[in-house]
Amino acid sequence: MQTPVTIFWFRRDLRLDDNHGLFKALQLGLPVLPVFIFDPSILQSLPKNDRRVAFIHETLNALQQVLVGIGSSLEVVYDAPLVAFQKLCAQYTVQHVIANHDYEPYAQERDKAIKSYLADRGISFETFKDQVIFEKNEIVKDDTTPYTVFTPYSKKWKAAFTKSLTHPFASSALIHNFIKTAAKEIISLSAMNFEKEATVFPAKHVGNELLQTYSEERDFPAKNGTSKLGIHLRFGTISIRQLVAQALATNETFLNELIWREFYQMILWHFPHVVNGAFKPKYNAIKWSDKETHFKAWCEGKTGYPIVDAGMRELVATGYMHNRVRMIVASFLTKHLLIDWKKGADFFALHLLDFDLAANNGGWQWAAGCGCDAAPYFRVFNPYIQTIKFDKEHSYIKKWIPELDDLTYPAPIVIHEEARKKCLEVYAKALQGESL
Ligand SMILES: Cc1cc2nc3c(=O)[nH]c(=O)nc-3n(C[C@H](O)[C@H](O)[C@H](O)COP(=O)(O)OP(=O)(O)OC[C@H]3O[C@@H](n4cnc5c(N)ncnc54)[C@H](O)[C@@H]3O)c2cc1C
Repeated sequence: MQTPVTIFWFRRDLRLDDNHGLFKALQLGLPVLPVFIFDPSILQSLPKNDRRVAFIHETLNALQQVLVGIGSSLEVVYDAPLVAFQKLCAQYTVQHVIANHDYEPYAQERDKAIKSYLADRGISFETFKDQVIFEKNEIVKDDTTPYTVFTPYSKKWKAAFTKSLTHPFASSALIHNFIKTAAKEIISLSAMNFEKEATVFPAKHVGNELLQTYSEERDFPAKNGTSKLGIHLRFGTISIRQLVAQALATNETFLNELIWREFYQMILWHFPHVVNGAFKPKYNAIKWSDKETHFKAWCEGKTGYPIVDAGMRELVATGYMHNRVRMIVASFLTKHLLIDWKKGADFFALHLLDFDLAANNGGWQWAAGCGCDAAPYFRVFNPYIQTIKFDKEHSYIKKWIPELDDLTYPAPIVIHEEARKKCLEVYAKALQGESL
């Protein structure tokens, strides 16, 4: 008879320290088998040189080094999650499976299927809150309905917050409870049909000095004024508890951004219809343009609007785009070009290192004016004024558009004033009867 094991399933929490679910698993008293599953149904839609897949792979290798150092090993599986569990259950005597909560609709469905499969075999499947401070129904209005406006949500968030919520889970102190086994090979990127592009990923920490000037510097894309921690929050290579504690000690504006992240996670949880349509369904009636030449110019950074083009080129070249510029390019696509926000959101999803369904969807719907607590649709960003305010010396623009002053740089594909007028007409037509 084999020794029974607990499986800890890593997902958006790729770290050994301060990991809630991992802490629970390591406390149970059985050897813990750490598992990661590369899910072909997610991977198949990604390009061969996807940087996020390389990031995950690199992170798993770093975890593996620590685990092998203590006589254990990760089990990395490349299979549909249900099939992966069928095989794991055939190979081991599994008593419990533990993971952390994942709020995305696809993950919810997947977890439901796994839970039911395991339950049929008498195996428990438990998940824990790890990637946010508050989740689901924890911050709701007094009448128990979810907030749809950020400011009152954030006030309630702060009122409900206590320091104990940032206490770390001592998972790294229990790592001797991982299963003892010979080191196993981690599947290579090429075996999954991916290749590694030379990418330097942002550091896993942010200095207090940067956070102290965050409020003043964060809106200027030429400055190094934001944390660049998006990818680490997305894959859980840092703990939100640790980061919130640091924010509390340094900068409230930074804390507010972390609360925006939880706000959008909460919105996705309560209103999953936002994945495929506008938060305010009336906005689904907007007659979007299908002008492919405009979409292509936007994707390639050739719209003739330097701040937009610089942003799009930065995104494609590095996988990152500054928040101020994300707002400008998203507004430009949806308002100036009248192209469906979903096309823009899909393009971001393909390129952003920090792509996160909830934040991306929230950001796009905010820019298009169709989301919860969105900018009103009649407020159309003027890219020229945004440039004067946030990149006056053109330092950011020139970094990404070296040919700015040459004849090769394209003329604007639409005229700002004309595009603005048309946008207001098209939105107004779709929203007839909507009170502003
Ligand atoms: C159209 C659009 C699309 C976006 N898509 C994403 C996305 O896919 N993934 C993503 O994490 N953020 C997204 N954002 C929000 C924001 O632009 C990024 O979080 C931020 O630019 C990441 O850089 P940073 O880590 O240096 O941020 P910092 O300014 O250092 O902020 C720290 C962290 O707070 C969170 N955060 C900051 N601003 C927001 C915000 N407005 N909404 C939600 N979370 C926030 C992020 O986790 C971020 O890493 C989007 C914004 C817009 C306007």
